[in-house]
Amino acid sequence: MTKTSWSPASWREKPIQQVPDYPDQAALAAVEARIASYPPLVFAGEARQLKKGLASVARGEAFLLQGGDCAESFAEHHPDNIRDFFRVFLQMAVVLTFAGQMPVVKVGRIAGQFAKPRSAPMEKIGDVELPSYRGDNINGIEFTPAARIPDPRRVEDAYRQSAATLNLLRAFAQGGYANLEHVHQWMLGFVKDSPQGHHYQEIADRISETMAFMRACGINPDTTPSLRSTEFFTSHEALLLGYEQAMTRVDSTSGDWYATSGHMLWIGDRTRQVDHAHVEYMRGVKNPIGLKCGPSLTGDGLLQLIDALNPDNEPGRLTLICRFGANKVYDHLPQLIRAVEREGRSVVWSCDPMHGNTIKAVTGYKTRPFDLILKEVRTFFEVHQGEGTFPGGIHIEMTGKNVTECTGGARAITDEDLSDRYHTHCDPRLNADQSLELAFLVAELLKK
Ligand code: PEP
Ligand code: MN
Repeated sequence: MTKTSWSPASWREKPIQQVPDYPDQAALAAVEARIASYPPLVFAGEARQLKKGLASVARGEAFLLQGGDCAESFAEHHPDNIRDFFRVFLQMAVVLTFAGQMPVVKVGRIAGQFAKPRSAPMEKIGDVELPSYRGDNINGIEFTPAARIPDPRRVEDAYRQSAATLNLLRAFAQGGYANLEHVHQWMLGFVKDSPQGHHYQEIADRISETMAFMRACGINPDTTPSLRSTEFFTSHEALLLGYEQAMTRVDSTSGDWYATSGHMLWIGDRTRQVDHAHVEYMRGVKNPIGLKCGPSLTGDGLLQLIDALNPDNEPGRLTLICRFGANKVYDHLPQLIRAVEREGRSVVWSCDPMHGNTIKAVTGYKTRPFDLILKEVRTFFEVHQGEGTFPGGIHIEMTGKNVTECTGGARAITDEDLSDRYHTHCDPRLNADQSLELAFLVAELLKK
């Protein structure tokens, strides 16, 4: 790999996995050219701010909370969905900050999380075989030949949806909604009567008391920015490189290239070959980036990827998102940690307890048992404790909606319940209750 020849288009010279088969390449090129002239969604300064936050996670001084849909969809683009996600996310962050006593770096899988890598290019139902669904920015989920043809217009629709979503999120984060004085109001109706709801209520009461105490002492929370608003960042898997290239811009203050489609981008477990296109694209942008680490990654393989992606060993640049499966953490994580420690590389260690724990329920639904999700997180913390390293974050698929997609949790969703409210466009997500339950567990682990 020659370090000098990077450009936003240099990935096109490399082998590539998971590319959609567009029948109309000219139409695709025209869309990409238009998008290249559209406004950036995020600014380089914001990406640098997130990198600073992640550098403090790498030092063990803060915790990364990253989460959102597996795949955003055009059908679910509704302000209530964005609001409900944001509420649960804020609740989780409050639980971690207050009960875990850690500053929380908040990164949504949102405002750009559309494209999906697939384990097979084709999908068969009965005798009919069609191209797999690859995300709403590429083709349609309906099982018809027409819907499954990749359509370049979808890329532009996804850009516009991302802009609208981000606009609302910025308003929520900065415009008063995230004010800690509203800590009680973030509770969603259907969570109120659950054990998690009661537990959250207690924390919210204590926060309100603390705020009242601060006022009485003459500290005005309304004029303290970190109490009145919050910093919230966006992220997605940088899978569709034509789109990413079109959104890659030079930052006028530093002269560096930045991906402006989201603050943080990550490389998926299926596209992390060190000499392939996705690593080539990501090595040249200065954003903080993530790398999914699954069971096939070796210590040496990881070090080669770190050499390519973070050659200057910049703290906050690289987050390793580990996703082995609850029963495989001990087989894989210690050797990766030891390789990184031996070479003195600065990384953020994050745990994705979702993607190694996907099973097919007897009822046919793709699901994830909540017990395994908790077990992977617990084991991740245990291994780090044993190695003397910092378990820096979690990466989860979640929604603010009261869905029934992952089994278990305090409300004990069963295989039979899955059909009640199974709405995901791709992988099964934690619902609001399950997300809060997970946050309480992590807060306990952080305090130890
Ligand atoms: C995902 O995060 O939705 C995903 C596909 O993950 P992975 O690349 O780890 O399989
Ligand atoms: Mn997923």
